[in-house]
Amino acid sequence: MDRRAFLKSGLVLTGLAGAARFGKTSGPSPARIARIELFPVLYPVAGYFKFFTGPGGRTGRPAVIIKMTADDGAVGWGQSVPLSTWSDETWEGAVSALRVYFAPALIGLDADDFAVAHDALDKAVAGGFSTGLPITRAGLDIALHDLAGRRRGIPLARLWGLPEGGRLTLSWTVNVKAVGDAEAVIAEGRKRGYAHFNIKVGPDPEFDVGLARIVRKAAPRGFLWADANGGYDPETALRAAPRLADAGVDVLESPLRPNRIAGYQALKKQGALPILMDEGVVSPADLEEFIRLGMLDGIAAKPARCGGLVSDKRQIEICREHGLMWLGSGLTDPDISLAASLALYGAFGLVKPAALNGPQFLAADVLKTPLRIENGIAHVPTGPGLGIDIDEDKVVDLIKRSGGDKIGVQYT
Ligand SMILES: [Mg+2]
Repeated sequence: MDRRAFLKSGLVLTGLAGAARFGKTSGPSPARIARIELFPVLYPVAGYFKFFTGPGGRTGRPAVIIKMTADDGAVGWGQSVPLSTWSDETWEGAVSALRVYFAPALIGLDADDFAVAHDALDKAVAGGFSTGLPITRAGLDIALHDLAGRRRGIPLARLWGLPEGGRLTLSWTVNVKAVGDAEAVIAEGRKRGYAHFNIKVGPDPEFDVGLARIVRKAAPRGFLWADANGGYDPETALRAAPRLADAGVDVLESPLRPNRIAGYQALKKQGALPILMDEGVVSPADLEEFIRLGMLDGIAAKPARCGGLVSDKRQIEICREHGLMWLGSGLTDPDISLAASLALYGAFGLVKPAALNGPQFLAADVLKTPLRIENGIAHVPTGPGLGIDIDEDKVVDLIKRSGGDKIGVQYT
């Protein structure tokens, strides 16, 4: 089947209002969202990472690539990156929610009005404790930004009135099943030019302290960031934090599940390590409440977790207003979602190493020209919108390689 026939086969959602004309990027004259297409893909992975095993032993990094077309023919790309081992949003669920609820809610809306778009998404799927299906809808937010930037011919940073371009130092992830495996993983990072490391910890402090010591010894001057992904209980976290600090850890992220409010308060009060939150900080309101409750010293920023760039950008601003730390992290983002994170962190001048480990763990891309990442340094793209160009043939190849057509046709 050729590409055109494949795309018309019913795999792709077409919430269609008017024909889209594909042509040159237009100027900032008004435009409406005319068409949204969904491409479910599973990026092949390299190396062990605890989050990559899916149902039935399936391996890979699930994503939904989103192509948003305005009625002036301009196109923006986004990407939703659900990971059922990280939160309760699944690959299949994301396709379904985008297709049935979110995408139709955006068709016909002003392509430049992010507030109206997010209001429509709020109404399409109501929130629970916080924003509904944030990882799923982040892909649409990213596509809106790319579209707006491309229609003006400017990168996202300029859309925000912030400095464009720049370079971000990356952190190498050390996630091992046995402490004895750590040295080989560190060596691989060093070989690729990385000087800073983040380690996955919890639930066993003995294991974690041993791992931290090995990494600290290998990188005496590197930034050492420990992320427990909510893996400790409060008592264990209070015992682990001072020991991790002694072992050379610089920050402790997500020691507890986010509903352990008293536990977070106790850890912050203990003061053994700066306490960052990741999981559970979804909307700016969540962050404001958690700051008020004295639960954290900062956040691991992550557009995918927050429903996209509008929310995450505001959260970085809130951290700055309160003198709190913000670090750049990710969800092992593939190329499109990664470009959005680079644009955001670059615009805010992130200095600390970013735990963006897509380049470490993912073995495919859908770009005409790969993102420039050399010796542990990511160069923030400077082209219009996200600054990347999608190779649609690569997208289709990846759908076929990864079984994305199977979950796509499930909902036609
Ligand atoms: Mg994290």
